[in-house]
Amino acid sequence: MRRAQRNGQVWVEWYHNPLSAFSAFFAGDSALLLRSRFMPSVADFVADLEAFAPTRTAADWDNVGLLLGDPADPAERVMTCLTVTPDVVDEAIAERVHLIVSHHPILFRGAKQLTAGRGDGRLVLPLVRAGVAVYSPHTAFDNCAGGVNDILCRRLGVTNTEPLRPRDGSRQVKLVVFVPDTDLVAVSDALFEAGAGSIGKYTQCSFRLPGKGTFFGGEGTNPTVGQKGRREEVEEWRLEVVLPEARVAAVVRAMRKAHSYEEPAFDIYSLKPGTSGGEGRIGELAGPVTLGELAGRAKAGLNAALVQVVGDLNKTVRRVAVACGAAGEFLSDSIRAKADVFLTGEMRFHDALTARTADVGVLLPGHYATERPAVEELAAQLSVKWPGAVIWASRNEFDPLGNSV
Ligand SMILES: [Zn+2]
Repeated sequence: MRRAQRNGQVWVEWYHNPLSAFSAFFAGDSALLLRSRFMPSVADFVADLEAFAPTRTAADWDNVGLLLGDPADPAERVMTCLTVTPDVVDEAIAERVHLIVSHHPILFRGAKQLTAGRGDGRLVLPLVRAGVAVYSPHTAFDNCAGGVNDILCRRLGVTNTEPLRPRDGSRQVKLVVFVPDTDLVAVSDALFEAGAGSIGKYTQCSFRLPGKGTFFGGEGTNPTVGQKGRREEVEEWRLEVVLPEARVAAVVRAMRKAHSYEEPAFDIYSLKPGTSGGEGRIGELAGPVTLGELAGRAKAGLNAALVQVVGDLNKTVRRVAVACGAAGEFLSDSIRAKADVFLTGEMRFHDALTARTADVGVLLPGHYATERPAVEELAAQLSVKWPGAVIWASRNEFDPLGNSV
């Protein structure tokens, strides 16, 4: 029943299943029946977006999450956009939107006053009056799995991607240690205490499997269990935890201290970094193409009015770095990652000169073209998930740099 309150899809099943609705009514469950007629709330979309692009992964300087509105309000009409502009506000009010999902945050610089017709007040006051909520995922959406940078890679044909700038500590290892039953609690506690076993918001994560270990203690040994000079079989636990690579020395030290064996048996495995474990992406095209061909592919794939190119159009490229928006700062990461070409929305003149010197091609389709497709895809994705709501990407929004002569 809870799912019926929270999930639009389940709601639709109820709504289109009169038999269930009538049976709920005749069973006296009118609360369920009434709820089942309501659309998802702002809070439902917040939970959904948070699961897709966790705001804890956003940059420190960012302003993300639900920035305006009441989570308890219904969200029957939802509009995505790149930026909340006066045009977008007009559309939201005319179209009776309940929730705007804007990639770029409102109130980004912080506001000390919100008055009519000035600064943020020009955007925020009309939205408040019309009861429109605003949610911004911004840098969390840039870098989550299936987010803006992944969408750029897909549209360019870039695969085998990894983060261009892995997040600090995002490289994880797995420690597997074999412990006797009597040590299990002490060793587990020591591992957790030293920084192992954290996965997302969960701590003290481990896996334990019972089994049998063998050893033969030669001269000069002093086994904790069993005797030296013969093969012993002992019951042990295989205890597994993940930990940041940077914590390996401290965790192994803590494990040895808590373990009663003279020579604990343990293994450390490197884990492949996750696709959401950092900013930007680097990957490869299926085969080499010229820089000019890739520029054409970017123009068509991102629906860009024009693509500025740094470098020789005939240069062969295959290894591609991407970072959406105004991400010229990722040029150094692209050079370090040995990219043949770096695509971002916009770049400063002197960064372009640096790229030229480093012989890294650069493609600049514009800030809008690198991010607008993602908010269109987000609207489509949310529509599939919430068929009971009306969801679209702003039709009023346009690229302010779209004109040229
Ligand atoms: Zn942007």
